[in-house]
Amino acid sequence: MFGVGNPDADLMFVGEAPGFHEDQQGIPFVGQAGKLLDRLLEGIGLARSDIYIANVIKCRPPQNRDPQPEEIASCEPHLFRQIEVIQPKLVATLGNFATKLLSGKPLGITRVHGQEQEVMLGASRVLLYPLYHPAAALYTPSMLKVLEQDFARIPELIARAEASVPVALAPGVQETVDLPAPEPEPVQLGLF
Ligand code: URA
Repeated sequence: MFGVGNPDADLMFVGEAPGFHEDQQGIPFVGQAGKLLDRLLEGIGLARSDIYIANVIKCRPPQNRDPQPEEIASCEPHLFRQIEVIQPKLVATLGNFATKLLSGKPLGITRVHGQEQEVMLGASRVLLYPLYHPAAALYTPSMLKVLEQDFARIPELIARAEASVPVALAPGVQETVDLPAPEPEPVQLGLF
């Protein structure tokens, strides 16, 4: 199961792995956790058609067990390519696996949820925003409350990411861009 959504999305969610229903339908987050995700999106005025959703792992792990390191490693290039193609401004990671992979740090979701950070993902500069996984929040009301609070900041973060200036440059330093070489002037062949 690859991913679905708006190819021009500013906001991309990255979950963990397809479960049974996602595997059957080829669509991410179609089970109970997906219904919660839809409700949270609606709460901030967004729909699935506004966003893109992918997972760290592209195939369902047997019995929904945790992804293994070699599975994460073999799916990682696909996720990075998805990010490169979609070019989201804000990437919201859902749960531990997506957060650790895309932040490149071992810090767990309990410590880092709701704390945005600028990262380079391949050649793309994005704002990374770790969130609790909706499946975890389904059965833990205190976690759901935190997830709702973190979600409420998404519109502000999208606006900030859209307006952001390159972070890697010192103030006043111009970014240089490799422009394509100008097309040679078409030469008018003399007809006579
Ligand atoms: N949980 C995930 O992490 N991804 C899905 O697509 C569904 C459930």
